[in-house]
Amino acid sequence: ASVLAIETSCDETAVAIVNNRQVISNIVTSQIPVHSQYGGVVPEVASRQHLEVINIAIAQALEQARLDWQGIDGIAATCAPGLVGALLVGLTAAKTLAMVHNKPFLGVHHLEGHIYANYLSEPSLKPPFLSLLVSGGHTSLIYVKDCGVYETLGETRDDAAGEAFDKVARLLKLGYPGGPIIDKLAQQGNSQAFSLPEGKVSLPNGGYHPYDASFSGLKTAVLRLVQQFEKQEQPVPIKDIAASFQDTVARSLTKRAIACAIDYGLHTIAVGGGVAANSGLRKHLQSAATEYNLRVLFPPLKYCTDNAAMIACAASDHLSRGHTSPLTLGVHSRLGLTQVMELYEG
Ligand code: ATP
Ligand code: MG
Ligand code: FE
Repeated sequence: ASVLAIETSCDETAVAIVNNRQVISNIVTSQIPVHSQYGGVVPEVASRQHLEVINIAIAQALEQARLDWQGIDGIAATCAPGLVGALLVGLTAAKTLAMVHNKPFLGVHHLEGHIYANYLSEPSLKPPFLSLLVSGGHTSLIYVKDCGVYETLGETRDDAAGEAFDKVARLLKLGYPGGPIIDKLAQQGNSQAFSLPEGKVSLPNGGYHPYDASFSGLKTAVLRLVQQFEKQEQPVPIKDIAASFQDTVARSLTKRAIACAIDYGLHTIAVGGGVAANSGLRKHLQSAATEYNLRVLFPPLKYCTDNAAMIACAASDHLSRGHTSPLTLGVHSRLGLTQVMELYEG
């Protein structure tokens, strides 16, 4: 089925048309230039920007696909989790279009979308598999059992991986978003220059949680390091710090994902979210997966960060199973992946 989907959960206004797992058109309008002057996403500004470009983006998606509404079998939008005002713009547009053109409507969970990004590049992928979801707001290990059926096996106790990249970039005065900038600098630095704490999560029995991560201690350690150089009035070795930080995050995520896959007998790790674009994570996870005879999948970069193709792909799968959402569906700023099926009837 051909589904047109709208994604406005944060600072990308995105519209795409996907037929099952094949991308027919993919429009992404980033608001990064607007928000970077504030050093992060300003929710009010995001909502207004979405409103300004949403209709153009929808028209472009249809035009790029050379389709009119007759060729569309369903209309979807991200409805959770994310910024309420931002989500509302896309969801309201999708519900209105579904009503006007008399098409099935589907609300989609943003994180299910990040998981589904893997199907776009690997259409033969089938559950069960393990998803390592690493984005601006989430860091989770998810047991993917079926379409809409998920179990969270591990998560971060504080900052998300992408959030850690963004915060470290800010304290190194590198700008927003930090992930891509740190990634680039890290490739020119020495990852062994500084030894930084991995951030283990203690268990009551004295051991460590095998799958949960923690990145706030690592961020503080980077801050201390920067302050040391500043206090001694020495130049801050930004490239070496970036490389050491990135290496620590990549090793931490790799260790947890591999342990989880082995413990649960899952042979495939499908990575998703903006941090899946990270070169350090790709390198470490790929080499560990090879060592343990596991398969690891990374979506192409354009499907790692926020896009609507991944949302349309998830919606298309739900629609083919007869799942649709009521037009009374609202937005949910927080909704767990285990609650995905609450979005559908039928
Ligand atoms: P969520 O999906 O949890 O709601 P989000 O949608 O804001 O959050 P994404 O768009 O999936 O997050 O990812 C954005 C995050 O990915 C940002 O924190 C950004 O710094 C990070 N990121 C993007 N590219 C890279 C990279 N090459 N290396 C590390 N981090 C990256
Ligand atoms: Mg974004
Ligand atoms: Fe996202």
